[in-house]
Amino acid sequence: PLGAMQHWPLRVMRLVDHAAREHGGREIVSAWADETITRTNWHGVASDARRMAKRLAGLGINKGDRVATLAMNHAHHLTSWYGAIGMGGILHTINPRLFPDQLAYIANHAEDRVLLYDKAFAPLVEKMKGQWPTIEHYICMDDGEFRAWIEGADDDFAWVEGDERDPCGLCYTSGTTGNPKGVLYEHRSTMLHTLVEVSPDVFELSGRTTVLPIVPMFHANAWGVPWAAPMVGAKLVLSADYRPAQMCELFREEGVTHSAGVPTVWLGMIDHIERTGADLGSLKSVSIGGSAAPRAMVEWFRGRGINVGHAWGMTETSPIGTCGTPPPNWDDMTDDEQVDFVCRQGRIPFGIELRIVDDEGNVLPRDGIATGRLQTRGHWVVQRYFKEEQDSTDADGWFDTGDVAALHPDGTMQITDRAKDVIKSGGEWISSIELENAAVGVPGVAEAAAIGIAHPKWDERPLLLIVRRPGSDVHAETIREHLAKHIARWWMPDAIEFVDALPHTATGKLSKKTLREQWKDYVLP
Ligand code: ADP
Repeated sequence: PLGAMQHWPLRVMRLVDHAAREHGGREIVSAWADETITRTNWHGVASDARRMAKRLAGLGINKGDRVATLAMNHAHHLTSWYGAIGMGGILHTINPRLFPDQLAYIANHAEDRVLLYDKAFAPLVEKMKGQWPTIEHYICMDDGEFRAWIEGADDDFAWVEGDERDPCGLCYTSGTTGNPKGVLYEHRSTMLHTLVEVSPDVFELSGRTTVLPIVPMFHANAWGVPWAAPMVGAKLVLSADYRPAQMCELFREEGVTHSAGVPTVWLGMIDHIERTGADLGSLKSVSIGGSAAPRAMVEWFRGRGINVGHAWGMTETSPIGTCGTPPPNWDDMTDDEQVDFVCRQGRIPFGIELRIVDDEGNVLPRDGIATGRLQTRGHWVVQRYFKEEQDSTDADGWFDTGDVAALHPDGTMQITDRAKDVIKSGGEWISSIELENAAVGVPGVAEAAAIGIAHPKWDERPLLLIVRRPGSDVHAETIREHLAKHIARWWMPDAIEFVDALPHTATGKLSKKTLREQWKDYVLP
C-alpha cells in the first residue's frame, strides 16, 4: 500500500470504553419512580456492563441473540444496553405501553431469549409469560436484585468484537397498520448517527452539557441520547417517570442544560409551570420532535430564553432526520421570522438526504410551496426491516416515510401531515397538523385534533376536536376567529366538538386511527 490509516470498526462499545477512560467520573443520575435518586458514573456503568455481559454469557446467550428490555429510563437500563451489546447480543427495547397482542407479537418475532424488566412491570410480565415461549430468562432490574445478579460476576469480561455492520439494536415501530415492524440498528449506523447528533447543528451536546432526555429509552433509543452522552462526556440525568413536579425539581437540582421530548410531555410541563410558578432551572436548549411543535410552545420557551431545536425523525431513521438549529442569517431575522423558522422541522444534517415526490413518483421542487411524500436515504436510515425478505427502499435507496412535507429554499423541511392523516377536500389537501397547531394557540385549548369526515360533495371536510384546559370555557366561536387569522378560508373546520380527552398511541402521539373509528358516523352540520 501507498500508506494506510488505522481501521477501527465503528462499534458502540467504544463509547462506554472512551467514557470510562476520559470522563469516568462524569455523573449518571437516576430518578426512580419512588422519588429516590441514585448516582453512578461512566466508570461504574462500564464496569457493571462487563459484569452483566459475563452473566449473560454464563446463561449461554450467544452473539446475535436478542436480549430484550421492558424498562423506563434509569442507570440499570443503561447498563443493560451496554452489557447486552458488549456480549454480542442485540438489544431489543420493548415499549411497555403496547397492547398485549403487540407485546406477544414482537417478543416472538424477535425471538427474545432474555428479558430484563422493571419491577413495576412485573404484573405485566406475569400476564405475558405464557405468550412468550422464546424467553428463557427473566431478570428483574429492581435495585437489590439487579446488583446482586451482576455482582455475581467479575468485570474482567472482554467485549465480543465483530464487524461494524453487525446489528446492535432492534426497535419495533408501533405500526398503525398491520403488525409492528422491527428496525435493526447496526453498530456503524448508530455510531455515525451519534457523531452527528452531538454536533452543534443537531443536539449540540458537549462535556459541559447536562442532558435529561424525557423520551423513553424504548422509543427510538431515547433519540440516541444514551449513546451521545458518553461520546462527549455529558452528564446524563435519567428519570423513570415524567411527573412534571418531580421533573422540574430534577431540572433545577441537577443543573440540566439540555433536554428533549415530544410536545405532549412539554405541554404537561408547561401547564404545571404555569399553574405552580415552578421553573426549569438553567435549561438552555430543548429538542422537540416526534410530532409537530406547536407555535405557542415554541414561543413559550423562547419567552424564557430557552432555545428550541425542532427535530423530525422516526424509528426508521435512528431517529434523527432533521433538526432546526439557527441558520446563518438568524440574527437578521425578525422575531416572527425566527419563530416561523423554528416551527418548520429543521435542516438536514450530513448523512441524510431528503426529497419530496408526487403520487406518480415525480420529484417536486424545493420551493417551499409544493408538498409531496417525503422520502429519505442516508447512513442511519432503514434498508430492510427485521426478518423481511425485501428491502423497504426503492432502487435508488429512497425510503418512503409516510409523511407529507414541503422543502423550503432556506434548507428547512416542513411536515404538513402524515400521508394517511391529510384531509382530502375537493382534490386538495388540508393539513391536519396546521389546523391543530393553530387551535392550540387559543388560550384555554389544551389539545386539539383534526380529522377528515366523509362529505358528499368535497370527499372529506375537517372536524376539529378540542380538549379544554381545566377551568376554561373557551367557545367554538373564539377558536374560529383565531383560526381565521392563521389558515386558508377553505380549511376552516366544518365542525368543532369539545371532548374530555383524546386517544394517544403507545408513543404518546394522537391516535388518528382511533379517532377516525370513533367519529366515523359523525354527521357534519
Ligand atoms: P410511530 O409513532 O409511528 O411509532 P415514530 O415514533 O418513528 O413512529 O414516529 C415517526 C413519525 O412521527 C414521523 O414519520 C412523523 O409523522 C412524526 N414526526 C416526528 N417528528 C415530527 C415533527 N417534528 N413534526 C411532525 N411530525 C413528526
